[in-house]
Amino acid sequence: MKLSLISAGFLLLAAPLWAQVPPLPQELPRLMPDDLFRRNIGTTAQMDAQFPPHHIIGNVYYVGTETLASFLITTAAGHILVNTDYERNVGTIKDSVEKLGFDFGDIAFIIGSHEHADHMEGDALAKQLSGAQVIAVAEQVPGLRAITPGGKPHPIDRIVADGDVIELGGTKLTAHLTPGHTDGCTSWEFDVVEDGTLHKVLIIGSLGVNPNYQLWNNPQNPGIVEQYRQSYATLRAIPADVPLGSHPAMYRMNEKYPHLGTTPNPFIDPTGYLYEIALNEQAMTLRLQEQRQEQREEQREATAQ
Ligand SMILES: [Zn+2]
Repeated sequence: MKLSLISAGFLLLAAPLWAQVPPLPQELPRLMPDDLFRRNIGTTAQMDAQFPPHHIIGNVYYVGTETLASFLITTAAGHILVNTDYERNVGTIKDSVEKLGFDFGDIAFIIGSHEHADHMEGDALAKQLSGAQVIAVAEQVPGLRAITPGGKPHPIDRIVADGDVIELGGTKLTAHLTPGHTDGCTSWEFDVVEDGTLHKVLIIGSLGVNPNYQLWNNPQNPGIVEQYRQSYATLRAIPADVPLGSHPAMYRMNEKYPHLGTTPNPFIDPTGYLYEIALNEQAMTLRLQEQRQEQREEQREATAQ
């Protein structure tokens, strides 16, 4: 934890390039998992409110709501939609795609961040409206099968594995399994070119510990802490300079969006990428310590009786 703090602090020294976006705090704020959870999901109204659709970088566009992120990756061979969100959000996503001048029917692939309803419940409706193929990562499949809005079975047209590459019109997305939040939580990596420069985009699947998650002594998932730790390592090994995430707060969209159109692109933020990983690792560790402490106290009380 110390090391990652120091390296994030060191990188901040190189910050003047994107000084227009408010700088990150010098020290990691002590946020608990519940703080990050609330930061990410916001209110129900925010989950449903359309955020102005916008170009992010290269062939990547934002088509989600204020707190549920959806991305459109456009290619000459059709488009890729990342995250259909709740089924009730699909109409908004379709409208955002059209406002950007693209055709919802040109979406060829639908993929998702992880098997929770706020990111992938809309798959069936989005497939119905676009004719796209739904591509799932193997570990997402059991969770997806349980997401059946209005009794509709969850469509799955193709199953890929950790490390597999999905290719469309020259864009290649690599699936990185980053479990812990869910077994099938996946972060998507791909390269884009803007102004002749290559950038690495990484859509973080989620590193969140939901309020009801048991980290310490979890009989259903004894390896959950190891999953999270492996996921931090997986992400840190990817030299991403354009971090995105399943919720816009994971990459400070609200702070970067007003600076769109300035040079350099405000979404180029390698420091923010490492910062978000460190923030989540700290929160997970604090929650783990808290749960271990609680259980020790319960045991002590039980022994004393
Ligand atoms: Zn989730």
